[in-house]
Amino acid sequence: MVTKTPIHILPGELRCPRCFGKDIVPSIAQGVRDWVMRWAGKIPRHCRFCGKRFYILVPEAGEFAGQGPDEKGAID
Ligand SMILES: [Zn+2]
Repeated sequence: MVTKTPIHILPGELRCPRCFGKDIVPSIAQGVRDWVMRWAGKIPRHCRFCGKRFYILVPEAGEFAGQGPDEKGAID
C-alpha cells in the first residue's frame, strides 16, 4: 500500500502556489517589476480563488500567442 502519493503536476497544468487551485488567469503586466520579470522569462499570473499573484516561466512559443493585446507603451 502506498502511503506517500507524490503530487503529480502535469506539464501545462498550472496551479496556484498558495492554494493549489487551478483557476489561474493571466495577469496584466503592470510596472517595471513585471516588465523586468518578463524580460527574465517570467510572466505574471494570478489565482482567482485566493488572489495570489505569482510568476510563471514563459511557456514555449505557441501557447504564448493569443495572449491578447500587447501592452506596448505602458511603461514610461
Ligand atoms: Zn490560489
